[in-house]
Amino acid sequence: MSKKLKIAIQKSGRLQEQSIKMLKECGLSFANGSSRLKAEVDNFPAEILFLRDDDIPQYIEDNVADIGIIGENVFIEKEKQGEIILKLGFAKCRLSIAVPKSAEYKDAGTLNGKKIATSYPVIVQQFLNENNVNAEIHEISGSVEIAPGIGLAEAICDIVSTGSTLLTNGLKEVETIMKSEAILVANNNLDAESKAILDRLVFRINSVNAAKSNKYLVLNAPNNAIEAITEVLPGMKSPTVTPLKEEGWSSLHSVVNENDFWGKIDELKALGAQGILVIPIEKMIL
Ligand code: ATP
Ligand code: ZN
Repeated sequence: MSKKLKIAIQKSGRLQEQSIKMLKECGLSFANGSSRLKAEVDNFPAEILFLRDDDIPQYIEDNVADIGIIGENVFIEKEKQGEIILKLGFAKCRLSIAVPKSAEYKDAGTLNGKKIATSYPVIVQQFLNENNVNAEIHEISGSVEIAPGIGLAEAICDIVSTGSTLLTNGLKEVETIMKSEAILVANNNLDAESKAILDRLVFRINSVNAAKSNKYLVLNAPNNAIEAITEVLPGMKSPTVTPLKEEGWSSLHSVVNENDFWGKIDELKALGAQGILVIPIEKMIL
């Protein structure tokens, strides 16, 4: 039997849905009942392991899993062996220090001698060391945001995305100590066969992500604007130009990145482009 890449993803929680979605967009077909521990992939040499996200770094170090999808925050916190292969662009959040709204806070030094409740003692200790702060870390595994209210700690460090949880618990965010997103992590000593399968998967992830951040653009332009428009829209190589039936006009096709999308549209309009169509791209093979 030939080799299969063991891919660990979160069994349930904030990473699960998007991890599954990403793998499916990469063409992997598997069953995803929440009760199962393992699923075979029918059309790619891989199997999916559904695990608690906090355990995934250990499983990767031990090679129970070859690769895994986890939050960067968890990977750093667990201090296990493994290589970050890719950032995946979802589950974006930050780890922040928060204190009660009424508390005075000047800088990290304010935390000297205080008690900080967190589920991320390693990351918080690193932050304290970098800032030469002596504070006591109180590790708790959940509902960190209630700690100040019940007198357990004067500050907390927890995951923040919008900040609304902090607000409802009477806290204010005073320091961001880490930014995180989902990452693909691999065991450090993959054999050549597993590595080749991983390369195929990474190629597909890159194609899916490139497609998401780019749009296909079709527009009409007067022929004397084609040169200037090509400067604005280099595309993957150069734009496709086909003549319109109407004398002196052409249709241009190109690819544009979402980041500078609206800026480019403004420039194109100023150069005389008309009838601009923006079309999603399903996959982009680079
Ligand atoms: P448990 O393992 O007990 O289920 P957890 O906090 O580890 O709890 P999730 O809440 O599912 O599990 O979070 C998993 C990961 O998703 C976190 O480690 C973090 O990287 C990311 N994350 C957490 N909260 C948010 C959020 N509000 N917005 C975006 N990403 C988040
Ligand atoms: Zn977890």
